[in-house]
Amino acid sequence: MSIREIEEEVLRRVDNQYVIRLSQELIKIPSHRGCEGHERRIGEFLAEELERAGLEVSLQNVIDDRFNVIARVCGEEKGQSLMLTGHLDTVPASEKQPDPFAATIRENRIYGRGASDMKGALAAMTAAMKAVSESKARLKGDLLLAGVIGEETTSEGTTHLVRNGPKTSFAINGEPTNMELIIAHKGAVLIQVAAKGKAAHCDTPWLGINSIEKMSKIVLAISEQLPRELKRKTHRLIGSPTINIGSIQGGGWPYTTVPEDCKIVIITGLLPGEKKESVLPIYEKIVTELQREDPELQADIDVVPIETIPEAYNLPFETDESAVIVRSVENSAQKVLGRKPRVTGAGYWCDASILSYAGVQTVIFGPGEVECAHSATEYVQIDHLLDSARIYALAALEVCLR
Ligand SMILES: [Zn+2]
Repeated sequence: MSIREIEEEVLRRVDNQYVIRLSQELIKIPSHRGCEGHERRIGEFLAEELERAGLEVSLQNVIDDRFNVIARVCGEEKGQSLMLTGHLDTVPASEKQPDPFAATIRENRIYGRGASDMKGALAAMTAAMKAVSESKARLKGDLLLAGVIGEETTSEGTTHLVRNGPKTSFAINGEPTNMELIIAHKGAVLIQVAAKGKAAHCDTPWLGINSIEKMSKIVLAISEQLPRELKRKTHRLIGSPTINIGSIQGGGWPYTTVPEDCKIVIITGLLPGEKKESVLPIYEKIVTELQREDPELQADIDVVPIETIPEAYNLPFETDESAVIVRSVENSAQKVLGRKPRVTGAGYWCDASILSYAGVQTVIFGPGEVECAHSATEYVQIDHLLDSARIYALAALEVCLR
């Protein structure tokens, strides 16, 4: 059989009704952090569905009886492997969302929590795996599907996956991209600035140093200067990073004491290629300039360490535009849509960066639109679902037949 004939056979085997029904069934099973067992029910459901489709399935225990679901179509030689990956969890439903788990179909859309982010993609990936496995295609490398836990919290699932396998050379993450091809996203780092004061009685404030007053100067300088500094850095696909001063804490009871400590935490955007520490000099420069006018102003600047969070969490991500996985998705989309998808970047962060830091060549491509993800009117377009299932299937052949 020629590759063209294999492709045609696989495309014929992608069942539209199956993709739609499975998307609805996945949406109907809530899997946010408020659910008992979190993603357990949806994990069990997906595992059974993949088994019924004739795939080799395993449950990978990650934490607290929560597991990743791994399915495999075995390659017959040691060829290139591809992992289709998506998270099983969602954010909680919005109170404003009517029937968030009803998976209602209206016109060309399925509505519900997780429709775009990202149960639609999981259904499309499952249909693609099923079509490839039922076809006469003899893959050289493994085709894998990973339904992972905890992406909406601290990415425990993908972190466990890259540490424990299965290994893969390439991955397509199915986060919503509105059928565009995302090869870069921003990262972020938490920076803490701690102003140091000196305690004294409030009746003799000249004997102390008020850390809240010093911090006021720092806050003003940061909010004025940092956005300007960050605008100088720009990435052709994702623009400039932004900041948010997200927390301030200082002083307290007894209010008769001049406060000794005041801290702020600033979330600071990172561009591909930047490390967490690379923004520190901008903050140091601002504090040094303030100290010239006010020698009593003292502040420590640090990256906030969060032990529970893996090293690659929140880091920026970029894959080269000429990479094999980019070509594979482009070629597959060309065959299905009659055009190549726009190659672009995203403002959001996702598991793609963890895969990429583990050495897996990764792109993000999925049905659904990030604009409606997490919102009260989350939906996924049905034609996106059907097209993406076919694009995943062809991409699998492009990669795993080599
Ligand atoms: Zn997501």
